[in-house]
Amino acid sequence: MSSFYSRAQYLLSAPSLKQCPPDTGREVAFAGRSNAGKSSVINALTRQKALARTSKTPGRTQALNFFQLDAHHRLVDLPGYGYAKVPEAVKRHWQQAMANYLGRRQSLQGLILVMDIRHPLTPFDRQMLQWCAKANMRVHVLLNKADKLARGPAHNALHSVARTLAEMDIPATSVQLFSALKRAGVEELNAVLDNWLGVEAEGGQKKAPV
Ligand code: GDP
Repeated sequence: MSSFYSRAQYLLSAPSLKQCPPDTGREVAFAGRSNAGKSSVINALTRQKALARTSKTPGRTQALNFFQLDAHHRLVDLPGYGYAKVPEAVKRHWQQAMANYLGRRQSLQGLILVMDIRHPLTPFDRQMLQWCAKANMRVHVLLNKADKLARGPAHNALHSVARTLAEMDIPATSVQLFSALKRAGVEELNAVLDNWLGVEAEGGQKKAPV
């Protein structure tokens, strides 16, 4: 069945806050250390293989990539390169752009933070969580590649990450198992997005004007 999220269409790429689309309506951003599977998650959600690949084309990898769902709702793919390996100047630029975006963007409703279940809570993830805490921004963590672990270890990882998030005192976080490969966990993710974006669960109609 197609969902509201399969309507996603590439809108534009913004190297900084100034180039973002007008700050109206509602949007949800996706972040994740490179190789955590962020592109695969966006593909699984939207059922469009080419969509997240757009963010990996030259010139767009360090930008905020916007996808439009309708006139009032957007998904945003945030740059997710390996945190420690980038040159210092690029890192500073990225940190500034991310802190600005998370702190100032009025239409931003929450962040989906994609982690590899086998390597959760990397320094990249902790940095994103701290910025969200500072900006009072909701975070929903996807422990992706859950298919790589058996059920027991996967649930242990889920509880361990939930406990650490509670200890880190990050407000309004939730966490779930996900597999982009198996499309497992898509309904739970849909429900979080529907709630944040204010769309109805069935049919993708807007619940209320924004
Ligand atoms: P990105 O750099 O975070 O956008 O990551 P990609 O989506 O390009 O995925 C990185 C690698 O992980 C690719 O080889 C994907 O096929 C693989 N991958 C992504 N999601 C999953 C998953 O749920 N399960 C498994 N087993 N592999 C995955």
